[in-house]
Amino acid sequence: MSDRDVRNERAEQLVEAAEGLFAAGVMSHSGHANLSARLDGRRLLLTPGFVRGLRPEQLATVGFDGQVLEGELRSVSAEIIAMHSAVYEARPHVGAIIHTHSPSATAFAVAHRPLPCRTEPMLRFGQAEDVPVVPWGPRGSDVSVRGIAEVLRRRPTTAAVLLANHGLLVFGPDSAAAAHLVVAIEESAEAEIAAAAIGGAVDFPPGAQEAVRASIARVAS
Ligand SMILES: [Zn+2]
Repeated sequence: MSDRDVRNERAEQLVEAAEGLFAAGVMSHSGHANLSARLDGRRLLLTPGFVRGLRPEQLATVGFDGQVLEGELRSVSAEIIAMHSAVYEARPHVGAIIHTHSPSATAFAVAHRPLPCRTEPMLRFGQAEDVPVVPWGPRGSDVSVRGIAEVLRRRPTTAAVLLANHGLLVFGPDSAAAAHLVVAIEESAEAEIAAAAIGGAVDFPPGAQEAVRASIARVAS
């Protein structure tokens, strides 16, 4: 596939993922989000500063160093290039990143409470551990980006982090996988909050992760 074909394919997948988030009802009232997809070891595709009504050709190509190589970014998006680049650099297998203010996940971020993994979808979609909280820093600032990198170092298998007093950051092998995990995390956060009113959520029994893996393998074989 040519460079152009790769760009177009990833752009279409990213737009589809963005539309899926709205359809699933996991966006905040403002509809704020930013999504990116890795192009190679030094470039990514990034939403231009809005996601509602986004078209594939509106995505910008940006270097990990912050340089805009093609397309245009609103300043609101230019600020967060470092946040996305830091994740791609820390995790070579990550192909896409989604940041949202999904309301229930954001409630955990605002409360500085890690979100436990206590629902089946969270296990299945790749987050078999709690979602850790990264200390607050202004969006895109060195403090915030360093905080994310530090948590990723400490938690080598987490596929998501909560940004304190801000929102959610999720990453996966591709746009669809990252979007599925955003939905699973938002559902889990909602369920945790609802369960708190009736006595509180309860952990999985020991071995649940292995049992889910075995079940997935059985169906796939
Ligand atoms: Zn945000």
